[in-house]
Amino acid sequence: MEICNSCNKEKQTKKYILNGTITNLCEECSKGENVIEVKPDKVEEKISKLEKEEYNEMIIPNYYDLIKNVRERKGISTGNLAREIGESVREMQDIEEGRKKPTFVQAKKIGKYLGISLIDKYRKLFSDKQKIDFRNPNIRIKDLKEKTKDLK
Ligand SMILES: [Zn+2]
Repeated sequence: MEICNSCNKEKQTKKYILNGTITNLCEECSKGENVIEVKPDKVEEKISKLEKEEYNEMIIPNYYDLIKNVRERKGISTGNLAREIGESVREMQDIEEGRKKPTFVQAKKIGKYLGISLIDKYRKLFSDKQKIDFRNPNIRIKDLKEKTKDLK
């Protein structure tokens, strides 16, 4: 028996990935959440993968300036860029104005087309305040949601 990280009761639990973190949930609590079950023999592997992802990738903060500058320098219109990477002009405008952060897929497409990198691989994804202890069995879902809410 383990403690369920959601209801905090001692129950039969399974390990799930919730908001990028491995967490113990009882059957009841796993139902309402958007979770992926992790098979027991894969837990260590998943934890080390998630820990690595902390340092993995993030969209650079000034992505919109860089996209706009390089695009203009190359004499490509926003419409052309949008067409080339299969996005709508509106979407591309929102990204360039900084109203919308590109997804990693979009950032990779834009970066590839313009010959720039919009993804910083060496920065931490989580600040120290947001840092999650993946091995802490007492971490609560409430805390995970709080910590990861800015990462969406
Ligand atoms: Zn529970």
